[in-house]
Amino acid sequence: MIHPTFQFRNGSPVALERAIMGKMSQPPGSWGVRMKKVSVLVAGGGPVGLTLARDLARRGVDCMLVERNFTTTRHPKMDNTNVRSMELFGLAGLEPRLRAVAVPEDHPFDVSWVTRMTGHELKRFCYRSPLEDREHFRDRNDGSQPFSPAMRVSQAKIEPVLKAALEAEHNVDIRFGVAVVDVAEDADGVTVTLRDQTSGQTEQVRCLFLAGCDGGGSTVRAAVGIGVTGQHSIMPRFMTHFRTDDAEARALLQRWGVTWHYQSIHGTLIAQNDVDTWTLHTRYPANERDASEPGALIERFVGKAIPHEILIANPWSPHLLVAEAARTPRVFLAGDAAHQYIPTGGYGMNTGIGDAYTLGWQLAAVLAGFGGPALLRAYQDERHPIWQRNLEGSRRHNAVRVEIASLYEAGLEDNGDAGAAARAAAAERIAALGNAENESLGLELGYHYTGSPIVASEAGAKAPDDPYRYQPNTLPGARLPSVFLDDGTAVYAQLGRWFTCIAFRGTDTTKIEEAARCRVIPLTVLRFDDPHVREIYGADMLLVRPDQHVAWRGTGLAESSDAGAVLATALGW
Ligand SMILES: Cc1cc2nc3c(=O)[nH]c(=O)nc-3n(C[C@H](O)[C@H](O)[C@H](O)COP(=O)(O)OP(=O)(O)OC[C@H]3O[C@@H](n4cnc5c(N)ncnc54)[C@H](O)[C@@H]3O)c2cc1C
Repeated sequence: MIHPTFQFRNGSPVALERAIMGKMSQPPGSWGVRMKKVSVLVAGGGPVGLTLARDLARRGVDCMLVERNFTTTRHPKMDNTNVRSMELFGLAGLEPRLRAVAVPEDHPFDVSWVTRMTGHELKRFCYRSPLEDREHFRDRNDGSQPFSPAMRVSQAKIEPVLKAALEAEHNVDIRFGVAVVDVAEDADGVTVTLRDQTSGQTEQVRCLFLAGCDGGGSTVRAAVGIGVTGQHSIMPRFMTHFRTDDAEARALLQRWGVTWHYQSIHGTLIAQNDVDTWTLHTRYPANERDASEPGALIERFVGKAIPHEILIANPWSPHLLVAEAARTPRVFLAGDAAHQYIPTGGYGMNTGIGDAYTLGWQLAAVLAGFGGPALLRAYQDERHPIWQRNLEGSRRHNAVRVEIASLYEAGLEDNGDAGAAARAAAAERIAALGNAENESLGLELGYHYTGSPIVASEAGAKAPDDPYRYQPNTLPGARLPSVFLDDGTAVYAQLGRWFTCIAFRGTDTTKIEEAARCRVIPLTVLRFDDPHVREIYGADMLLVRPDQHVAWRGTGLAESSDAGAVLATALGW
């Protein structure tokens, strides 16, 4: 049975947390000064922390975000915001702002293997531009396609957009230049010690929940004693982020047409804006003579020296690591604090955005009083298997790259028949190995919260689990497939900020509406009479969560007790 202790005021969640805060005891060792108290403290102002804090704020939760650096990152890092992240950002109203700083929408996502930029193109994998994708998604309209196309953009470009969006929210205290230095969790809350990076002064803040979004070296994760499993430092790499104004060099760097990634045994060249800025990631071990001389690395990849200005250059190393647990009772990990991957596939930030939009509504529902205790447990049950699944994807994709690199042999650039034959053989092999790292919709969209305590179970049902191919389905736990109605509008565009009940063919929604009203659960009801969408969704009624995953589906809810039970499960009671 649901016990909604706290009510909505003017349609928005009342701050339950304030009441709980009143009961919070002063922790031992506190300075006797009244500590600042917030419901949620988000540690880390990278893309994941910024996204989570904004989602919490928009759901009525008062929170604080602290970031040890004074500004958002200058490092390009991530360059592919995938389709699932774009769906999530889109539903949070951020898509136009993000796309405004991204590579133009009519530019393709092509990936091409070359010998050198002065040499030969071996094999090109052609991919549609976001503009073409949009048209394709509408034309297909069979549930197999995402709602939003992916986006080519660097992390250095999107973090300021996410920060500005957070700054527009009123109930969040944003502190850049402030680091988390210690965490003490007790039964009632968490005391977090912060250090001002300018003055060195420390301050303690008390929160009900702490979100560790503080990256791979997470202070939060270490402080609560959660270990990581997997492989550290898979292979040393060197990043050279550079720009060039030289027209000839720019033409050479897009020699075979607008291309997102040019790849060779010498590394990966990422076109960051298709104008003047590129990032080269080289794959040579650090002990090689020129492995950390940026100009030499560019020259080796390109095949000749080009005029360039280095923006940033540094060694780095990817890891394949997953945190042993997603949470303690009051501390939750998200983003790189919870998982670190090789960038092949682009699962790092994208998995973290999924974490943020899962944790956001779950914490907010608990704090608003209509979410029950199992909601907090669900984060571990739902996200941890996805972290591992994406780790395996990243590992597989990297193995393909390593195998392709092994095809590079002397003679690949030779003139004459022998060189041409060697290139043809390499091209054939590359085509056979494929480019699943940019094609695995099964990983991006097909993840499923099997075993979660807050999704309905269906006897004998088995979720599809193909990492490559996405098979649309509405089994509870699955992401709701995106479909356009016959009037041209998208179902996704109509989903509510909280729960949504979708009903077809006049199925009665009274009982679930009543149950939601009496339990103070925000519920949007969508009634459709569209046979095509009904067929894809495979049920007359579906309950969809705030993160667009299906919580329950059935033929209808005729009894109040059934409706109450469905909501009770979905809300973690
Ligand atoms: C070369 C490269 C390419 C990549 N490509 C992609 C891609 O295409 N797609 C993709 O999804 N991912 C990609 N990634 C991974 C992506 O960059 C990370 O997954 C992403 O940065 C994770 O975001 P985050 O917010 O969890 O962590 P971070 O971006 O690391 O942010 C954590 C923040 O916490 C702050 N912090 C740390 N400690 C503290 C503390 N004690 N107190 C306060 N603040 C603290 C840090 O300063 C930082 O700002 C790539 C990474 C690299 C290196």
